[in-house]
Amino acid sequence: MQTSAADDAKAADWKFRQTAGQFARAGYAIRGALDASLLARVAEDGNTASDVYGSIEAVIANDKSRPGFTVKVAGQLGLTCQSCGAGFTWPVDAMTTIYVARDAAELDAWEDESFESLEANEKTSALELVEDELLLAIPYVPRCEKCSADSAPKTIEFN
Ligand SMILES: [Zn+2]
Repeated sequence: MQTSAADDAKAADWKFRQTAGQFARAGYAIRGALDASLLARVAEDGNTASDVYGSIEAVIANDKSRPGFTVKVAGQLGLTCQSCGAGFTWPVDAMTTIYVARDAAELDAWEDESFESLEANEKTSALELVEDELLLAIPYVPRCEKCSADSAPKTIEFN
């Protein structure tokens, strides 16, 4: 069972590197606020982050052969509009489930599946996983509300 410490994870807990398999072990959970100073990759492009709250929890798989964990992140990103250069706030509330493959062969077998996956022995940290989720939430071409309304009819979907 988790102790109350899991509700107030420290920077060291977020940075602790372990294998994907360990994130998926039954009962694993980490959650709490993440200080913006931890999110160096978000800041790289001049973006800011505030009120970031993240969590990772092992999933109880229906099919026991496919362990995994959920990565959740919520917060406010401060982005720069690529059209007018104005700063604007981009709220994020995202969740991904990552399934953990036993080995490279199983990971290859999942290649065509639509879910996210990692190999069990791949090392990562809760911080890295949450920050990845946060980075994925940043639009390819960030635009403020006004500019995205102005350019809506011309928007080209790359997805
Ligand atoms: Zn704009």
